[in-house]
Amino acid sequence: MKIHEYQAKQIIAQYGATVPQGHMAQSVEEAVKIAKNLGGPVQVVKAQIHAGGRGKGGGVKVSKGLDAVKESATAILGMQLVTHQTGPGGQKVKTLLIEEGMDIKKEFYFSILVDRASKKIVMIASREGGMEIEEVAEKTPEKILKEWINPVTGLRPFQVSRLAYALGFDQYGKAAVKGAKKLFTSLYQTFIQEDCDLLEINPLIVTKEGRVLALDCKMSFDSNALYRHPMTVELRDLDEEDPAEVEASQHDLNFIKLEGEIGCMVNGAGFAMATMDLIHDYGGTPANFLDVGGTADEERVENAFRIITKDEKVKCILINIFGGIVRCDMIASGVVKAFKSVALKIPVVVRLEGTNAKKAHEIINQSGLEGKLVMVDGFGPAAQKAVELAKAQG
Ligand code: GDP
Ligand code: MN
Repeated sequence: MKIHEYQAKQIIAQYGATVPQGHMAQSVEEAVKIAKNLGGPVQVVKAQIHAGGRGKGGGVKVSKGLDAVKESATAILGMQLVTHQTGPGGQKVKTLLIEEGMDIKKEFYFSILVDRASKKIVMIASREGGMEIEEVAEKTPEKILKEWINPVTGLRPFQVSRLAYALGFDQYGKAAVKGAKKLFTSLYQTFIQEDCDLLEINPLIVTKEGRVLALDCKMSFDSNALYRHPMTVELRDLDEEDPAEVEASQHDLNFIKLEGEIGCMVNGAGFAMATMDLIHDYGGTPANFLDVGGTADEERVENAFRIITKDEKVKCILINIFGGIVRCDMIASGVVKAFKSVALKIPVVVRLEGTNAKKAHEIINQSGLEGKLVMVDGFGPAAQKAVELAKAQG
């Protein structure tokens, strides 16, 4: 689960991180009022959406004086902000963050995340801040520094020092080294205490006076740990999430929307991934990832159908179920029922294997939906058939 920059900055500040002074605003008047209270010659008006790359998309404006703040806030508030992370439709800006402007001497990149390969938390940093870190990592990997953290001992002071010196903070004076060390430590504490799965500061800056601050902050949480953080759950902004994914989560369906034309309904996450791979192998593209879970019942199957078919790009649905705990006949009657109640217009390929598969075949064959509900034996042939039927739909 992601939150907005202004919320993330409040959280890291509680752990001792230094951030620019600022406040969120939801109207131009509020924005101007905040800027007036902040004082100083320069303020920054920042769009609050969950996607990054706002600066390049015109969602971050350094503004000199109250008139400029008014102009920036008017331009950004309500705009449909398009960045490389929003998709072509963009995201509507409902909230702004108004901050004191900083005199930037140098921008760094800093993040903390879980490294699955080493099974450790890793701190990643670079002198090449402010720009796209993926490009730096690809072209000049030597410019990316990493500190892996031992889960038993936690972050050690020598690691913090090593990182601060390796990034060259000593060039900016003793206070800058101290500031960087304090900031890294408080960000690590935030990550651990709040059960984050990503904490990214890009840019982390040193000012002309040698102050070290988090100028941007992207924070995302491990959803499996949210039960421990009721306050964090309150920060969820459903407007920023895909409506189909929100609806799916309300029905306990594990659903992720994708861009393809074949809707998938599968039980088990690994099985769902394999299904998507096979669709690709046969030249199709999946419209979604969907794990209906090991305890799928008729109601779930119907909800899954409804959510998948809301996507107009879907040309065919592939149902791939292995009946272990879940019974195939129950899935089959759920599918037949859902097909009729949702009034499906697109073909559905069903592959059912495992417990009560034979009974399931009978239910499908007697459903009176021949031609629309196609039963195929075998994983590969089912995926191939789905791709074929989707293509035939044009
Ligand atoms: P992002 O584009 O969504 O990652 O948004 P950021 O918060 O990183 O802002 C984009 C860029 O705006 C930063 O990399 C800075 O170069 C610039 N910026 C943000 N705040 C300030 C500020 O206080 N002073 C100056 N001079 N530039 C700023
Ligand atoms: Mn940024």
